Amino acid sequence: MSTEETFEPSWERDREGFFAQLDYSKVTTPAYIFHEGALEENLKILAHVKKEASCTILLALKGYGTWKTFPLVKKYLDGVCASSVNEAKLGREEFGKQVHSYAPVFSDRDIDEQVLYADHIVFNSPTQWIKYRDYVKKKNPKIHCGIRINPESAGAGNDLYNPCAKGSRMGSTLKECEKHPGILEAADGLHFHALCEQSADDLEEALKQVEKKFGKYLKGKKWINFGGGHHITRKGYDTKKLIALVRDFQKKYETNVILEPGEAVGLNAGVLVASVLDIIENNGKIAMLDTTAEAHMPDVLGMPYRPSIIGTGKPEEKKYDYMMGGITCLSGDFIGKHSFDHELKPGDKVVFQNMAIYTTVKNTTFNGVRLPDIIIMDQNNKIVHTKKFGYEDFKNRLS
Ligand SMILES: *Cc1c(COP(=O)(O)O)cnc(C)c1O
Repeated sequence: MSTEETFEPSWERDREGFFAQLDYSKVTTPAYIFHEGALEENLKILAHVKKEASCTILLALKGYGTWKTFPLVKKYLDGVCASSVNEAKLGREEFGKQVHSYAPVFSDRDIDEQVLYADHIVFNSPTQWIKYRDYVKKKNPKIHCGIRINPESAGAGNDLYNPCAKGSRMGSTLKECEKHPGILEAADGLHFHALCEQSADDLEEALKQVEKKFGKYLKGKKWINFGGGHHITRKGYDTKKLIALVRDFQKKYETNVILEPGEAVGLNAGVLVASVLDIIENNGKIAMLDTTAEAHMPDVLGMPYRPSIIGTGKPEEKKYDYMMGGITCLSGDFIGKHSFDHELKPGDKVVFQNMAIYTTVKNTTFNGVRLPDIIIMDQNNKIVHTKKFGYEDFKNRLS
């Protein structure tokens, strides 16, 4: 029996229970707490996929850039994917394995720096390929150059997060690519990114569409990059199916597959701890917090979604309902309605779940609000790193 059939994650992935038993009483709020035990559990699942499918797995820095944890991450993953010069440089400096760069568009300045850091550069369009490919190869012949294709598959439900939506600027359609004969053949590899928080079944559908449109260009490519959006570390994700899809694809097209998840790496590996500062009332009770959706967890308003708080329920599920109110002056700075077993009072702490991803990489100092500390805990719940932000961080971004 192969390890694939016997593999079961050792941890039940009950992350709410896990984070509920940590002691937050001494935490100065607001603070993100990233836990290396939870992170490593995710990494083990990804390493299992990597081994069984013999593919490459990169960390997408866009979703998770907590570089103090990279010594752990790089034990399991092959490198990073970067969407800008800054990310590529961070990957080169702090991760040090493979750096794969893609951006919806590159400038001359970008390319001059990318050639210093990147192992792979993926262009979004045939015109960018024509403009920069020979220049890149002249600077460094070892850099692989690829093209991002747009399979025009179903993709994610919300168009804000759907790279394959009608009218998308992400990647080039078959029609656009074929206006420039020979380019798809000349590329070292092809890249598509068509998913967002999706399953192996969704990947199967996307692959069908990739094969239908671009099938004749896949064989013998050095690599085909399946992008991110694979929710591999979510409970119930069918890793067996993912492994089979990757293996079959590699065999059929004699190529190597690259996956570049962001969310799956840091999924449920961190929390955001906040304190209640005041309770006000207007059409129900509002708990005013020292955190904010707008500046500390912008996806809450962007997606939008309601993050969960440890030990609470949906509205009316428990005895006391509170709307969570943010600290900025944005009128809509709310973090959802949650129900509690007890009444809230100033000084109480609330712990938002799943806050390691798309938070620190996106947060802002809007309104001059204090940025949360970044605390890293190791496998033994010991705090191994605390980063504090202050007035200088706010001032340095202004002039
Ligand atoms: C956003 C993105 C990723 C990571 O996506 P996740 O949903 O965080 O897994 C990977 N590759 C590309 C090109 C992306 O734009």
